[in-house]
Amino acid sequence: MLEIIKYPRLILRTKVKKVKNILNAEVQKFIGELIKTMVAADGLGLAANQVDKNLRMLAINHKDGPKVFINPVIYWKSWKKNEAEEGCLSFPGVYGLVWRSKKIRLFYRDGQNRLRHLAADELLARVLQHETDHLNGVLFIDKATKYTRGENQVKDWQNQATNENI
Ligand SMILES: [Zn+2]
Repeated sequence: MLEIIKYPRLILRTKVKKVKNILNAEVQKFIGELIKTMVAADGLGLAANQVDKNLRMLAINHKDGPKVFINPVIYWKSWKKNEAEEGCLSFPGVYGLVWRSKKIRLFYRDGQNRLRHLAADELLARVLQHETDHLNGVLFIDKATKYTRGENQVKDWQNQATNENI
């Protein structure tokens, strides 16, 4: 199992790099580990930089089973949005309300290096937006309009990060 990186570690603020050789044995091994770690943590999704890996890859706990999205590009988002509560494995105990587009369309590569297209809505669209944000170093606390749980915890982490920089 891989260790899940918690905020405020810097890798969570890193825009991660495109996966070049998806069929490479190490990359293939990592795909399996990312999925296993997400399932064991009971997460809806997990991005590679949340396990300290600088790759544009994320796993989703899809209703048809766990699924990997490599080099995902969301090229369309609906104008219509809805607000819902989100949490994140890198922020234990923290939950907040976030506005997301209701529908999205994206391209990505699967674990066999095939180019895929997906139109997603509802929870899947939300999770994919949350996870692709991770790959750009963007976190749900940047977008939360209100914390529903754990706001003080976020403040403590931010103070801790500031003290380390001094
Ligand atoms: Zn997250």
